[in-house]
Amino acid sequence: VIQYHPDDNLLIEFANGSLDIGLGILINAHLEQCPHCQTKVKSFERIGGNLLAANTQAPVSDDCFAYLMQKIERQGRSPVSQPARTLAPSEPQDAPDYPKIISKLLLKNPKARWQRISRSLRAHRLVTGQNKYEVALHNICSGGQVSEHDHSGMEYTLVVRGSFSDADGIYRKGDFVVKHPGQVHRPTASQNEDCLCLSAVEAPVRLTGFLGKLINPFLSIRPA
Ligand SMILES: [Zn+2]
Repeated sequence: VIQYHPDDNLLIEFANGSLDIGLGILINAHLEQCPHCQTKVKSFERIGGNLLAANTQAPVSDDCFAYLMQKIERQGRSPVSQPARTLAPSEPQDAPDYPKIISKLLLKNPKARWQRISRSLRAHRLVTGQNKYEVALHNICSGGQVSEHDHSGMEYTLVVRGSFSDADGIYRKGDFVVKHPGQVHRPTASQNEDCLCLSAVEAPVRLTGFLGKLINPFLSIRPA
């Protein structure tokens, strides 16, 4: 059972289409498994639709997935569109239970690869056509611990598979975890299986261009 959900403000912004794409991807992936938040978003959409009824500017989309993908397509020109491919076996996980939007994003950028960050952490950056957030998959191997880290911006994490814990709690599949700037934490995957997470970390101000160097604060780890 999912215990940690995005707060209403995020869901409202998502429902009215004003949420930044980087975060929208995480919300979309959370909604795919969370009927509770789906219901909320539907009702926020209805409210938004009523408010907008007079000026027909922003049609409320029932299919937020298609809407989000359109937004990504419009803003982010992926270098080449290539036919679908399956993930190479060398990569940490097969993709069968990825959220729909993640599978889609992986296919859009077939050249991207998993990168080894440390003994227990691998990362796969996602090209999302925006540069406000660094959006990436992180795989923490079972029992593995990510070095204690801090970040200058917000850090949002969705557990895609497995579970991890830190001083504040245990987070399982579907949980949406928010860490504020300055909140130091040290995620540890459960012993029995790898933990796969999708995260969006507010990019530091100095980061320009989403093709820039990979400097996700989640990854630029301080020795603990
Ligand atoms: Zn939820």
